[in-house]
Amino acid sequence: MISGKINKILTSSFVDGPGNRAVIFLQGCNFNCLYCHNPYTINECIHCGVCVEQCPADALEMVDDKVHWIMDLCTECDTCIKVCPYSSSPKVRAMTSEEIWQGIDSAVPFLSGVSVSGGEPLLQIPFLVEFFDLIHDRSNLTTYIETNGYVKKEDMLNILPHVDLVQVDLKCMDDELHKTLTGKSVDAVMESIRLVHEKGKLYSVQQVIVNDFTANEKLIGSTADFLVSVDPSIRLRLVKFRPHGTIGAAASWQSPSDEMMVDLQKTALARGLKIVSISIEESDI
Ligand code: SF4
Ligand code: SF4
Repeated sequence: MISGKINKILTSSFVDGPGNRAVIFLQGCNFNCLYCHNPYTINECIHCGVCVEQCPADALEMVDDKVHWIMDLCTECDTCIKVCPYSSSPKVRAMTSEEIWQGIDSAVPFLSGVSVSGGEPLLQIPFLVEFFDLIHDRSNLTTYIETNGYVKKEDMLNILPHVDLVQVDLKCMDDELHKTLTGKSVDAVMESIRLVHEKGKLYSVQQVIVNDFTANEKLIGSTADFLVSVDPSIRLRLVKFRPHGTIGAAASWQSPSDEMMVDLQKTALARGLKIVSISIEESDI
């Protein structure tokens, strides 16, 4: 079996796809977003050892010049990921689909599905194919990916037959701003949205609303125009930026106001999209 690089597993989440879902967070990303909410999933550990000395529970040690995580001693205080200078984590594990299944098996009767997030899941497609096939063989759970959409067309075509639902994160339609926010162009993301929709797997498109960047009606209008050109029935989720989990300058940015979110929702609906949800405080409407 192929092993995935696993950062974290949750056995219950109501915010990562429809219903109650187990969520598998994969390690590694091809973006480097200014406001990443999981910055410790971006890079692979380079075994520098900085976090080892900081662990208050002695749950980290160096073995043969590699950091080793002693899971049984870990208190999940997250000190290690906060001090890592390389946007990584010493707790990443190589796990097969079978091992993950054993970890979520007891929760299956209470789940609607299994979601894969990250990091960027589509950097580990061979593992995902095997994992999703195992889920479908052993249960009626739906499978779901949260992706930034920055992937080659042939890679997307390889994974789509194995997954039920896909959410694509579209940061913005302005290519220069997209490069500023993520380090990469938006073109491949747009192409992925078209392709996933054409194959009937697009669950939603998500855009994070960030003051001074994407919190303006012109940009939301561009997003809506693009999605309407693909299909006005595409579900757009406008999500309020929150500083929790971010690092660097983003940690001191303010969240947009509820009024701003409502105005942007109205703008997207006025451009012809039929379903536009927004996050207000802790809920979606
Ligand atoms: S997790 Fe970060 S701080 Fe710890 S050894 Fe790896 S790169 Fe260094
Ligand atoms: S989360 Fe990291 S720092 Fe905290 S106890 Fe576990 S290994 Fe140590």
